[in-house]
Amino acid sequence: MKAGVLAVQGAVTEHIKMLEKCGAQGVPVKRGQDFSGLEALIIPGGESTTIGKLIRKFGLDRPINEMAAEGKPIYGTCAGLVLLAEEIEGEDPYLGLMNLRVLRNAFGRQRESFEAALEVPILGEEPFTAVFIRAPYINFAGPEVEVLCRFQDRIVAARQGNLLVTSFHPELTEDDRFHRLLLEMARDTSQKTGSKQDLQGNKKAAAAANK
Ligand code: GLN
Repeated sequence: MKAGVLAVQGAVTEHIKMLEKCGAQGVPVKRGQDFSGLEALIIPGGESTTIGKLIRKFGLDRPINEMAAEGKPIYGTCAGLVLLAEEIEGEDPYLGLMNLRVLRNAFGRQRESFEAALEVPILGEEPFTAVFIRAPYINFAGPEVEVLCRFQDRIVAARQGNLLVTSFHPELTEDDRFHRLLLEMARDTSQKTGSKQDLQGNKKAAAAANK
């Protein structure tokens, strides 16, 4: 399983290490050609304005959109969440792929960075230690969005189809459950694509048999 980490700015190596720990091949993605063969993508934390500008400058929005359209999973952490949201309070959106509205740097100055143990039912009973660094939160989520976790009544993890986001940074902990979830989503997608191909194969066989 080959999974990419968008590597124009931000926390890239930690995600690659985490993917490798989960048994995947983690590759940095800087240019269009780096997307070839990817089954999943992580958009890391960093500075969303910088990452957003570089995505446009290097023309990476197109391959990202293509991956999303093909049902391949994309996971945005922190700034990555901001980039995937359809709406950003007071700013123009970037990729705009998820029906979410986010507020940047939303936990206030005095809480620039902190940890919290969160209940994330999709990951099992064990609480997840979430590291927040100048984190955004989601203040609106559309009906197609599955809320995965809240902290102080604010949505901090969510999923919409093949798109997954967290306000916090699992790559800075030892807990690889979010990365495993992403890889599981990628396996589901490739199985579906595989069976669709089988279906085409069968139709072809049927057409050939009817000749
Ligand atoms: N505050 C940053 C932004 O909105 C995100 C911080 C982070 O990714 N750790 O871009």
